[in-house]
Amino acid sequence: MKKGLLIILSGPSGVGKGTIRKYIMDNFKIQISYSISMTTRPQREKEVDGVDYYFVSNEEFDKNIANENFLEWEEFVGNRYGTPKDKVEELRNKGKNVLLEIEVNGASEVMNKVNDDRVISFFLMPPNIDALESRIRRRKTESEEIIQARLNKGRSEMKMADRYDHVILNDDVARASQEIVDLIKKKLKK
Ligand code: 5GP
Repeated sequence: MKKGLLIILSGPSGVGKGTIRKYIMDNFKIQISYSISMTTRPQREKEVDGVDYYFVSNEEFDKNIANENFLEWEEFVGNRYGTPKDKVEELRNKGKNVLLEIEVNGASEVMNKVNDDRVISFFLMPPNIDALESRIRRRKTESEEIIQARLNKGRSEMKMADRYDHVILNDDVARASQEIVDLIKKKLKK
């Protein structure tokens, strides 16, 4: 059996990675399992533990690092986020395609670490920096200080776009999703 494809979806905070991921999973007949990350970030009102993230304490996150449970983990604007390793491998070994929605440093680490050729990476690019700002503000979940920190981080993240297999402009959710799905299908045929 062919190993499942590892799909990396990255890009700056506020670009709409989550929206694109959900749109793809809801609207296309393509098998994709979403890898749920672990985080120390406080849970937002609309988020569900075990669906959006596994929300854990700093102590629990430390334990997972010590036990080498992460494929990668990163600190992002004051909180830590990590990709559980075993789950990703288990699914891929069963032939399932797995999508990681992660920030750029973690994405680089995964691209360096996973050395089979069943990996495809996407960098989602906002049409402009104002689009990031308005999306983060619309969410109404972060303080002004955190918003500014996320925007600063976003500016440096955008410089990493050329490390990815594909840069996708998120000018329209349906169009960008279609472009991603077409590229995944093409890769799956190889
Ligand atoms: P948020 O707090 O907005 O949910 O996530 C902040 C950033 O962390 C986003 O860019 C998100 O994609 C990223 N992120 C989520 N899970 C992981 C993970 O497991 N590893 C890494 N490196 N980044 C993650």
